[in-house]
Amino acid sequence: MANAWRQLDIAVIGGGIGGLAAAISLRRAGHQVTMYERNDFAGETGASISCAANGTRWLHEWDVNVAEGRPVILRKLINHDWKSGDWDNVYDLGDYEERWGHVYNMFHRVDMHQMLMNTAMGEGEGVPARLVVNHKCVDIDLATGTISFDNGRTAKHDAVVGADGVGSAVRKIIGIVPDKTISTSTCLHANVPTARARELGLEDYSLNSGIEYWGGQGISKIVLSPCKISENGPEVLSYYCFFPREKGTIGDEGWNYEATVEELLAPYPDLDEKVLAHLRVSEDIRPWRLWVHKPYEYWARGRACIMGDAAHPMMPDQSQGACMAIEDAAALGIVFSKKHFRGDVEDTLKLYEAVRKPRATRVQEASKRARENITERIGFSSNTTHKGYRVADEKNKLTIEEMNGYDMHEDVKVKAKAALPGERASL
Ligand SMILES: Cc1cc2nc3c(=O)[nH]c(=O)nc-3n(C[C@H](O)[C@H](O)[C@H](O)COP(=O)(O)OP(=O)(O)OC[C@H]3O[C@@H](n4cnc5c(N)ncnc54)[C@H](O)[C@@H]3O)c2cc1C
Repeated sequence: MANAWRQLDIAVIGGGIGGLAAAISLRRAGHQVTMYERNDFAGETGASISCAANGTRWLHEWDVNVAEGRPVILRKLINHDWKSGDWDNVYDLGDYEERWGHVYNMFHRVDMHQMLMNTAMGEGEGVPARLVVNHKCVDIDLATGTISFDNGRTAKHDAVVGADGVGSAVRKIIGIVPDKTISTSTCLHANVPTARARELGLEDYSLNSGIEYWGGQGISKIVLSPCKISENGPEVLSYYCFFPREKGTIGDEGWNYEATVEELLAPYPDLDEKVLAHLRVSEDIRPWRLWVHKPYEYWARGRACIMGDAAHPMMPDQSQGACMAIEDAAALGIVFSKKHFRGDVEDTLKLYEAVRKPRATRVQEASKRARENITERIGFSSNTTHKGYRVADEKNKLTIEEMNGYDMHEDVKVKAKAALPGERASL
């Protein structure tokens, strides 16, 4: 019935960063949420994760205790010369909070996951979300919202949010077959404990509060993010190391394969000695398989929708994967809020899709361009005259202004009116 907000009983499939953010946002909007996770605990990997102001603003709006995530606050983007390690291009973010109202946080994934879990399930506004583990979604009746799990159980909900990652089952169930190709890049992730680097007298990259890059004009690139703040500074230096697929020995191995230091170093014979010294003592070296997905035709069907990596898997080079999942979660909370939800679940999921798909698709495309051209990376995209580096299309580049100046509340308002002019004209 029109004009009748009601509390919904919503299922979120997947208890990763996107699923937890959706649980928080929908809880704050007044709904009951149950997260179904296929693992016995929604375990997270030991790598860093970026949360720029466009993600942080929602953490604040939802009253998340951000300090629990032990973030390092980003102050600079630093591009080093590949061989000498000299600073080649620096994008200063000293006035970032002043300009955008929120900081750029670099979390360790385990800390971020725990921080979101505490907010989703702990005290605070709304009904605490429930987490049900060992429940792998295998089917959904899109008309009734009945979910089937691989353990033989079923559950019926008013709406089903698929936050089940890049290999999403919900995506398949709503009828999407991804058009995807394996990336020409391989990525190995490795950690260096800061204490170990200091003990060995290596360059102390923990002091710069920066995301630091080597290379980036072409496939090969090293990306370093410090995370896990303590009284002695960041405890972990998290390295993402990219190289052309044919240069390494890693094939189709996934995150569960532990690579050797030799495999990590092989593609980089001429890299800056200072960063190589770090990689030589790195730990927990794991491959991150990269696939390029074309944007999907739709994200919602019947009572189900997809979000996060299930909806828009992207190259990691804008560091926006988590932020886009958080924005998706925020949009779900707004469209199902007392202001916008009029009682029709299917229409409301279509409104969510109309709000999120254009913006996430732009970031997905810009991430693909940034994979081989660091000048396309938000921030560096403002310095396009540096050493003749160029973005592919000056008018189409993704900027900090576009990312952080976006007003989602206004976007929802406009699209809600466009979707149902008569019904929603009074909003
Ligand atoms: C190593 C690594 C490093 C990354 N670094 C960054 C970074 O620096 N910055 C950034 O912005 N992004 C980064 N990303 C991407 C970012 O983590 C994701 O974009 C973000 O976490 C959103 O993920 P998600 O919640 O949609 O999916 P996921 O985090 O993949 O979570 C999906 C969850 O669903 C569960 N699941 C899957 N299938 C089912 C099923 N059928 N039934 C029930 N549960 C299911 C999974 O077990 C998992 O818990 C990184 C990703 C990886 C893997």
